[in-house]
Amino acid sequence: METKSHEEKLISTSGTPAVNPALLASCIHCGLCLPACPTYLATGREMESPRGRIHLINQWSSGHSEMTDRMTGHLESCLGCLGCQTACPSGVQYEEILNQTRPHLAARRSSFARTVMRFAFQQVLPRYKLLRLLGNLLRAWQIMFGTAVLETLFGKERLQSDSAVGKALNRLIDWEAFTPIVPPQVSLPPSLVPKGNSEKGAHTQLFAGCVMDVFYNHVNHASIRLMLKQGHSVDVPKQTCCGALAYHAGEEDIAIALAKKNIDDFGHSSTPIVVTSAGCGAMLKHYGHLLEGDREYAHKAELFSKRVEDITQFLAHHQFPDKPEPLPNKTTYHAACHLAHAQNVRKEPADLLNELNCDSENKLVPLVESEHCCGSAGIYNLLNTRLSLKVLDRKLDYIEGTGAKTVVTTNPGCMIQLQAGIRERKLPVEVKHLIEVLDESYFSEQK
Ligand code: SF4
Ligand code: SF4
Repeated sequence: METKSHEEKLISTSGTPAVNPALLASCIHCGLCLPACPTYLATGREMESPRGRIHLINQWSSGHSEMTDRMTGHLESCLGCLGCQTACPSGVQYEEILNQTRPHLAARRSSFARTVMRFAFQQVLPRYKLLRLLGNLLRAWQIMFGTAVLETLFGKERLQSDSAVGKALNRLIDWEAFTPIVPPQVSLPPSLVPKGNSEKGAHTQLFAGCVMDVFYNHVNHASIRLMLKQGHSVDVPKQTCCGALAYHAGEEDIAIALAKKNIDDFGHSSTPIVVTSAGCGAMLKHYGHLLEGDREYAHKAELFSKRVEDITQFLAHHQFPDKPEPLPNKTTYHAACHLAHAQNVRKEPADLLNELNCDSENKLVPLVESEHCCGSAGIYNLLNTRLSLKVLDRKLDYIEGTGAKTVVTTNPGCMIQLQAGIRERKLPVEVKHLIEVLDESYFSEQK
C-alpha cells in the first residue's frame, strides 16, 4: 500500500488545508505592508511582519511544516490590527487568513488557559448585571486603595524575579497598570424620544457594549444625548457581548452563540443599530460573514450587519440643529484599527472633528501614524504585555510630539491602553472618546 507523504499527513485529517490556499497565494511577498505593521516596527523581525506570518501560515497549512511553539508565538504576537490589509497593494485578505488560523492557535493553548478564557467569554462578559457588579467592586477598591496598589507594594524591582510567584505577580502588576478608573454606573434608559417627539429624526437602537459600558458608561449616555439632540429616538434593547474578544481568541463557537443572541434581541427591522465601540461595531458588521453557512441565521445575520453604524457614521450623516463650540485645546486623533482598517470608516470622524475645529487657531493637529495600532487589540495587552507596551511607546512618542492636550479616539480598548501609557509617562494629556468631545462642545452651556 502506498504510504502517505509527510505533506499529506500534515495537511489535515479531512485532506483540506487549514487555511484557504487562494487567500495565501495572493501574497506576492512585496513587503509593502512591513512599514504598516506595528509588531514588525517594534521587533524588526520578519516573522513578526505580515509577510513573515503569511509565510509561516502557508508552510503549516500546506503541510510543509508542523505548527511549533515558536511559530505559534510569532502568530499569537499579531495584533490583528489589519494595518497590513490596508497597506497591501495585492488585496491580501489578511483578516480572513487570521480568522481561519485562530481556532488552530486556540487549540494549542494549555487547557487551564483555555478554560479560564472560555469561562470569561461565555460566563462573564455576556452577563451585564455581573459585569456591572464587578465594575462597582473595582470602583470601590480604587476609591479605597488607589489604582496602583500592587505597584506601590512591590515596587519596580519585581521585574527581576524569575520564580513562578514572581512572574505571576509581575503579570498582575502589569494588568493593574492597564485598569482604568471605573466611573459611576448609571443604567441606560430602555427608550427615549427627543423633546417635542420630533417626527424628523430616525428611530435607532443603541449597542452599548460590555467593557464599553462598564468603563465608559458616560460615553453611552453622551451618545444618547447627541442622538436626541439631532432629533432621533433611541432604544437600548436587551443585548449581550458582541463576541469580538472570543472570536479573536479563536473561540468561534462562543462568538457564534453570542451573535445569534444579539440578532434575536435586536429583532428584525430596518432600524439602524448605532455602536459606540469601534471593536464591537466591526464584529457586529461581521455577523453576516460569520453566519453565512448557518441555514437558520445566514439571512438574518446579513440583514443585521447591514443595519450597523458606528456612532460617528450615524452622527456625521445627520444634522445638529445648532453650531458647536470650538475645541478648547490642542487635540489630535488616534484612529482605532477596528474603525479605520476593519470598517473603513475614516471620513466621518474627520468630518465631526473638523466641524469643531472652527476657530482661527486651528486646534486639530495631525498625528503621525494615526492609523497604527496602539497595542491594545482586545486582550492582547493582557496576553502579550511586553510587546504591547513596545508598540504603545511609539504611539506615545508621536502623541507627545504633537503637543496636544487631548487625544481623541473611538474604542474602549484604545482608551484603556492610551490612558495607561499616558499615566505611566505622566504626560499632561487627556484621552477622550470622540463622543465626549462632541458632547462637551454641543452642550457647552449646560456644563
Ligand atoms: S501581504 Fe500584501 S503588501 Fe504584504 S508582502 Fe504580501 S502582497 Fe506584499
Ligand atoms: S494585523 Fe497588524 S500586527 Fe498583525 S501582521 Fe497585520 S499589521 Fe502586523
